[in-house]
Amino acid sequence: MRLYNSLARQVEEFIPLEDKKVRFYSCGQTVYLDAHIGNARTYSFWDVLVRYLRYRGYDVFWVQNFTDVGHLTDDADAGEDKIIQTAKDKKIEPMVLVESNIKRFFEDMDPLNIQRADIYPRATGHILEMIDFLQDLFDKGFAYEVNGSLYFDTTKFPTYGQLSPTKYDDESVGARIAVNPDKRNPRDFALWIRAPPEHLMKWNSPWGLGYPGWHLECSVMSQKYLGETLDLHAGGIDHLNLHHDNEIAQSEARTGKTFCNYWLHAAFLTVNGERMGKSKGNYILVRDLLKETDPMLVRLFLINGHYRKSVDFNKEVLQQTQVLLDRIKTSIASLKQAPGGKKSDLSSAISEVKEEFNKAMDDDLNTVNAVHAVMQFIRIVNSSLDNQKNILNKAYETIITLMGVLGIRLDTTVPTSGASISDLVGLLIQLRADLRKAKQYELGDKIRSSLLELNIQLEDKPDGTIWKMK
Ligand code: AMP
Ligand code: ZN
Repeated sequence: MRLYNSLARQVEEFIPLEDKKVRFYSCGQTVYLDAHIGNARTYSFWDVLVRYLRYRGYDVFWVQNFTDVGHLTDDADAGEDKIIQTAKDKKIEPMVLVESNIKRFFEDMDPLNIQRADIYPRATGHILEMIDFLQDLFDKGFAYEVNGSLYFDTTKFPTYGQLSPTKYDDESVGARIAVNPDKRNPRDFALWIRAPPEHLMKWNSPWGLGYPGWHLECSVMSQKYLGETLDLHAGGIDHLNLHHDNEIAQSEARTGKTFCNYWLHAAFLTVNGERMGKSKGNYILVRDLLKETDPMLVRLFLINGHYRKSVDFNKEVLQQTQVLLDRIKTSIASLKQAPGGKKSDLSSAISEVKEEFNKAMDDDLNTVNAVHAVMQFIRIVNSSLDNQKNILNKAYETIITLMGVLGIRLDTTVPTSGASISDLVGLLIQLRADLRKAKQYELGDKIRSSLLELNIQLEDKPDGTIWKMK
């Protein structure tokens, strides 16, 4: 499999450290608000990545965190903790907010068939490990203390900023943000932040009462569960600058080893061309969209674009996706219902679609081409419903399996009505046969031509009438 590695800035052959074993960490949700569909798009891709790797025989160990402390409203280590701010607004304990939002996170992800990671570590559950990590950095001279806060000294780590396409020269950082006067260099970042006595979430440390900087948790928790060098690390494109560069700096400074071999970043879901974001107020929560939309339709929309290309959300694009989903569902419904016949030319098409699907996914997780390969196959299937029944069953299984790798759960009922297309067409075929028996040929022909207008073709065979999609 080949993946675009943000570290190498090119598509590379993916070779895990240990044959067929993949250690994967993805940055997860800051649980101060419910997930919006932009968050869900990014998580859908990591889910597809894991599903595909497992489908190809890899043993994937997947860790995704929940951020429940230290993510400040301002990326330059200023502002208020997002969890505390929201908890105060709601007049509840921060941990009550966290507990409830984690539950709600799964309520949102489960219907989208975003499978669960193997472990969901929380930042607040790993403060001891964080303090150990910081002590190490401090002892090795990579961290300095000012007034009870600890900062990473980027001048001690010459390769700082490997991921960012724009270098963090001190002048541009200083021009962009108001630099914290405690920092020796503008691009230094907070590892541990001193907490005033009234602060809601704080822990004792060798540097006094405080709480961790946001970047620390991902380095500490990924290495605790996956080892000092990871195979894959993923996040949204907003994490590339700062968050992931800081993760690399603090991890590699401490271990002297490569922190992660392959870095993946997903592009944004946008609304009218603008990033969907909680702070922007232009977000659509997963739970709100699912009140009125089939979750599998949302899921197909989310993955039917390349993960490195941003996609705009609107009603029209959902309608287009609905046509696609209906086409897939109709095809598998007719496969299930088809009486079967003698021809057996579908077997090579089955091998071909699997090959094309793998080729697409091996090419930097090209889900668009993977869906396209299945749609091509469906076109062939629709005109081959007179195949042997066992081959039709294999074709059915193939569509279910491949769409399943993309996380699309299919059933044979058409979502817009209670009955399947097959049921309805079967009914019309019976009615036509009755009309013909009663010598009402004109009406019978009308049924046939009306169905043809809907791309449903009837064929009269010696032992009955069969139908196929044109
Ligand atoms: P957050 O809870 O804000 O840290 O975001 C959780 C995940 O969603 C991160 O991987 C972000 O990069 C990602 N994310 C945030 N906004 C968007 C968006 N508009 N489109 C796609 N992914 C996003
Ligand atoms: Zn992270």
